[in-house]
Amino acid sequence: MRGTKPGSSRLSRAELQMNAFLSQPVSAKQQDGAVASGEPRPLQRGAMRWSRAFLPVLKESPADAQIVSHKLMLRAGLVRQTAAGIYAWLPLGFRVLQKIEQIVREEQDRAGAQEMLMPTIQSADLWRESGRYDAYGPEMLRIRDRHDREMLYGPTNEDMITALFRDEVRSYRDLPRMLYHIQWKFRDEVRPRFGVMRGREFLMKDAYSFDIDEAGARLSYYKQMLAYLRTFQRLGIQAVPMKAASGPIGGDLSHEFIVLAPTGESEVFYDTAYDEFDWHQADLGYDDDAGLHSLFDRVNSTYAATDETHDEARWSAVEEDRRRTGRGIEVGHIFYFGDKYSSAMGLKISGGDGTMVTPMMGSYGIGVSRLVGAVIEASHDEAGIVWPEPVAPWQVGIVTMRADDEASASAADAAYTQLIGAGIETLYDDRDERGGVKLGSMDLIGLPWQLIIGPRGIASGTVELKRRATGERQELSLESALARLTA
Ligand code: ATP
Ligand code: MG
Repeated sequence: MRGTKPGSSRLSRAELQMNAFLSQPVSAKQQDGAVASGEPRPLQRGAMRWSRAFLPVLKESPADAQIVSHKLMLRAGLVRQTAAGIYAWLPLGFRVLQKIEQIVREEQDRAGAQEMLMPTIQSADLWRESGRYDAYGPEMLRIRDRHDREMLYGPTNEDMITALFRDEVRSYRDLPRMLYHIQWKFRDEVRPRFGVMRGREFLMKDAYSFDIDEAGARLSYYKQMLAYLRTFQRLGIQAVPMKAASGPIGGDLSHEFIVLAPTGESEVFYDTAYDEFDWHQADLGYDDDAGLHSLFDRVNSTYAATDETHDEARWSAVEEDRRRTGRGIEVGHIFYFGDKYSSAMGLKISGGDGTMVTPMMGSYGIGVSRLVGAVIEASHDEAGIVWPEPVAPWQVGIVTMRADDEASASAADAAYTQLIGAGIETLYDDRDERGGVKLGSMDLIGLPWQLIIGPRGIASGTVELKRRATGERQELSLESALARLTA
């Protein structure tokens, strides 16, 4: 740890207090979580010094980006395009992607879905079995291997999961099951645009359900609906389930989840009653069949539609002050497709009474990488990104206003050590840059809290704590600031 040079000058009372604070035994005294030599360093994935980081922020808005999330993702160094519609995730962007992925995963697990991992490369034969190899069209990237076998980069996985399930499952006792994976997909979109929002390679969570009959499949669908509502709420965004143009077999079991944003690709109409629902407090478990049915009824009786399914008559029945229109981004899509794949691919199980039954299936997608863009569309201001806490790459950013000021640097070092010791994900901007530049970068990358440490404050024993979302700043002692952040 850097310290104030002994005897370099007479210290004020505030500085003495600060020094007393600095000399306290700190549990994670060793910098960046290092421990006595010989022991392995504990992992501190949440700790980063900007001076050592790969966080390329841009001053200027890139000219080739049209929408705000794409501009900000480039400026704040989240991604770089490596080919049309294909992106490398730089450290900051990757942290956010992983946060989103983890929330999606936890809510899938809670809903009773089991995680697995299917490959990105698939055999064309699989798709011939389901009958859609030729039908799929130019969005599919078709590849030949060295033996001239036809392969493809998976745009989705219904065919593969149906084959895997078919080859292992024999009896009604093996149902119901929900399986999911979080895996890269490739779709050769005609017009990849808006950065990761409509990429060609993108990360998707796709889940698949298998049930003995339609009634069972409905319950699986309702469980996924609840899991989606909870997932998006945890991500800190409002995603409204909207009835989608029904899939191949009709019915009411197809919903898109739409985040409101002016740059969205579809026009949307919804009842603001959605703004008041709290899907977590709704004391609803995944084993409560009656509760799941009433959740679905509640969603179905509250108006929400995209331009594709909009119904003027039903819309005009919604109270006028509760009607909201706007544009929206599709972040998820769930649908029931019955025996489309199970029939085509010969998935049959014994029903227990001598009969053979064809399971009924549904599939449930979330655009994990698109969500990074969608969250930014929904949460930013003039200065940059404003991350909702659950997906923020780091919770706290420490800024030293003058890196060459010993007292500020010591205080900042100590704050960094304490925060990471307390398990708070912290980015420490210790670069030798002007304070103003550093504050600008910190606003741009949008961490929820900024701890600003400068010589003037240190002289009077204070630091500044700024909340990014509101811009609210508070001057307080370093101890109180840390107590607040680690509470
Ligand atoms: P869209 O209408 O936006 O093309 P889709 O109907 O083709 O979407 P699905 O096949 O249901 O999408 O895929 C599930 C989710 O994957 C979508 O809700 C979306 O969030 C995401 N997604 C689909 N295509 C892309 C893409 N090209 N880039 C990024 N995310 C995508
Ligand atoms: Mg599409």
